[in-house]
Amino acid sequence: MMTPNDPRTLHHHVDGGWTVAPGTATIEDRDPATGELLAHVPLGTAADVDAAVQAARRAQARWRGTPPQIRARALYRLRDALGARRDELAALVTRDMGKTLDDARAEVGRGIESVEAAMGGPQLLKGQNLEGIATGVDVELFRQPVGVVAAITPFNFPAMIPMWFLPYALMAGNGFVLKPSEQVPLTADLYLEIIAGIDEIPAGLVNMVHGAHDAVNAILDHPGIDAVSFVGSAATARYVATRATETGKRVQALGGAKNAFVILPDADPKTVASGVVGSAFGAAGQRCLAGSVAVLVGTREQQDAQLRTIVDAAAILRTGPGDDPATDVCPVVSSDARSRLVAEIETVAGHDEIELVLDGRTAGPGAGGADLGPTILDRVPRDHRVATEELFGPVLAVVRADDLDDALAFTNASRYGNSTILFTESGGAAREFRAKADSGMLGVNIGVAAPIAWMPFGGWKDSIDADLHANGEDALRFYTRTKVVTTRWATSGGAPAAETTTGGMRF
Ligand code: NAD
Repeated sequence: MMTPNDPRTLHHHVDGGWTVAPGTATIEDRDPATGELLAHVPLGTAADVDAAVQAARRAQARWRGTPPQIRARALYRLRDALGARRDELAALVTRDMGKTLDDARAEVGRGIESVEAAMGGPQLLKGQNLEGIATGVDVELFRQPVGVVAAITPFNFPAMIPMWFLPYALMAGNGFVLKPSEQVPLTADLYLEIIAGIDEIPAGLVNMVHGAHDAVNAILDHPGIDAVSFVGSAATARYVATRATETGKRVQALGGAKNAFVILPDADPKTVASGVVGSAFGAAGQRCLAGSVAVLVGTREQQDAQLRTIVDAAAILRTGPGDDPATDVCPVVSSDARSRLVAEIETVAGHDEIELVLDGRTAGPGAGGADLGPTILDRVPRDHRVATEELFGPVLAVVRADDLDDALAFTNASRYGNSTILFTESGGAAREFRAKADSGMLGVNIGVAAPIAWMPFGGWKDSIDADLHANGEDALRFYTRTKVVTTRWATSGGAPAAETTTGGMRF
């Protein structure tokens, strides 16, 4: 095995060591704020994935027999090791993905929180039993690991999203293979370095293969992988879910989103402005819970008044590099992403009805070619793609509605169902919204309704192809299989228990 001698050429981490085959093709990883070349990312192949799976399987054969409380203690060590390098991790997230340092610190904190939630695994892994279902007969349910699991992750949360999966998979007794986003590979690299330093996590249990489509396809086709967790765009999620199912794997694929704010006329304008602006333009609109369409409810005057406070708050945001404390809106992930977003804005610029009330192009492209300021498009027809499709940038579409029912008719017609946010001072309206909104994660007077790690994270409809969500108890259910054992023992006198018939079944 090789050790990384050129820090700009990344390696896979397999069976406890850094490795890359000579002649492996690479792609470039650049800092979106400056355009600086940060790393060459190796494009993992089926052979790399196979080596990772074999290592994970060998290590898992021993790990599954490690008592759950000892597995939990390994996670305590991981939590402490991540905490000790929190600032380094956050700085790396900012450099690689672009988000502000404050945002990156919060993200790293969220990742650590997932480890903490998984540390409670022994409690959640407990099974069930029912005594005396027939004479001398008891029944017990056990939760056992699925085997080797893989996680394929997106660019927008390089520190948090791998931790939605890794600690729970380990807690449940599985081996693990991570395929991080090829656009932001550096945080995962540091994670593997940290994990390799934790004696309680055996070498080979956690592996990482860098790469893009070929590495993903190799994961989906590998017979030694039992379950796949995926987060990314809706189209890729559907593809991953379909192909993983075809090869007989358990799969959870979290996809894209078009999250709406519903703003009632009684909502506090300050709460609306800070919530909407932080959500739509924080991380340059590249959060899966970012609101990207605002539904203004009420009379024309009421709608216009709410919009004015939003536009005023957005207009003073500063666009720039994530490591500048003055920056509010970071660059998007790459200059290609900016070009795609600018093309979307240009498409609607000449539209009869749509009004460009704030134009983020005026911020200029920045040193890395990836800056785009807050952009607000008013009077967007409800069926226009900027109101229905995920653009994944700092672009907010505004539509108008007569009342809450009319607003929900629009939001519930979306093919996505990740998150919907209501702004109101009315408890009755909030209660009705909670009952009727078709999304997995709702917020009331909160811009980004991200559940804490002890709760499941996931949407509805095209925002997920899965039965179980990420994080919390759902994660431990996803990473375990249930086994039910029915047992008969002789009575204390030594005589075999009599056969009993229960509901037509003979025991
Ligand atoms: P993406 O779908 O482009 O990539 C995600 C992963 O899939 C990457 O590891 C990539 O290498 C791989 N991939 C991409 N295209 C592939 C293909 N055709 N074949 C095989 N593998 C492929 O997503 P992204 O741009 O990295 O991330 C942004 C998306 O993720 C947004 O749509 C966002 O809403 C979504 N997201 C969703 C959630 C959620 O909780 N639902 C959370 C975060 C991000």
